[in-house]
Amino acid sequence: MQSSTTAKRLYNITPFTLLDYPEKIACILWFAGCNMRCSYCYNPDIVLGKGHISYSDVLIFLDSRKHLLDGVVLSGGECTLHKGILPLIEQIRSMGLLVKIDTNGSNPPILAKLLKKKLIDYVALDFKAPESKFYDITKSYLFNGFESTLSLLLKADIPFEVRTTVHADLLNIEDLVGMIAYLEEKGYRGNYYIQHFINNTVTLQKLNYSVQQIDFELLSTPNIKVMVRS
Ligand code: SF4
Repeated sequence: MQSSTTAKRLYNITPFTLLDYPEKIACILWFAGCNMRCSYCYNPDIVLGKGHISYSDVLIFLDSRKHLLDGVVLSGGECTLHKGILPLIEQIRSMGLLVKIDTNGSNPPILAKLLKKKLIDYVALDFKAPESKFYDITKSYLFNGFESTLSLLLKADIPFEVRTTVHADLLNIEDLVGMIAYLEEKGYRGNYYIQHFINNTVTLQKLNYSVQQIDFELLSTPNIKVMVRS
């Protein structure tokens, strides 16, 4: 049996990004596999594919690049599902690198451990859909996990963001108004990022062309600023 350091859990590494960790120079570790099947997912190869890169390979790569980077983004797929992620992050942090997690929020127990051990510096949390549409959009019953993750982050002392990808056939304006009201009621304050679905890309499920006619920023409230990210 492979150990957690030699098992190949990563699909790929993006060696350099200025876009995925706010105001930091980072690389991205793409973890293979996910416990959701979002119809609009842009990474079917990563979600359905096998890993090619082990944690040992990652650490060798990071050791050679750490002087060029501020931080590391753990993305996927869903990085929190993987065995040995805590020790991996401990080793990344011991190199002096910051750690950002991109998560669908489905694994609050691991997130709680990461927060308790102060191993992460930033989290981007996907808010996929209101509870009533969560299964339709993610093909999973993991809304409760998302909700627990949001609660953990609201009590934590690290910066985090909430973001939603919007395809016009999947989420309408009433859904978004409801999602913003839900965030307000939970106590979220700050920016809420809307990401337009990118047409003409390969996705997990074939979708219609998405024509967006909503000016999302008008949905901002005194507590939550809605920002559109392209
Ligand atoms: S978009 Fe959905 S299916 Fe794709 S990686 Fe994220 S959570 Fe998984």
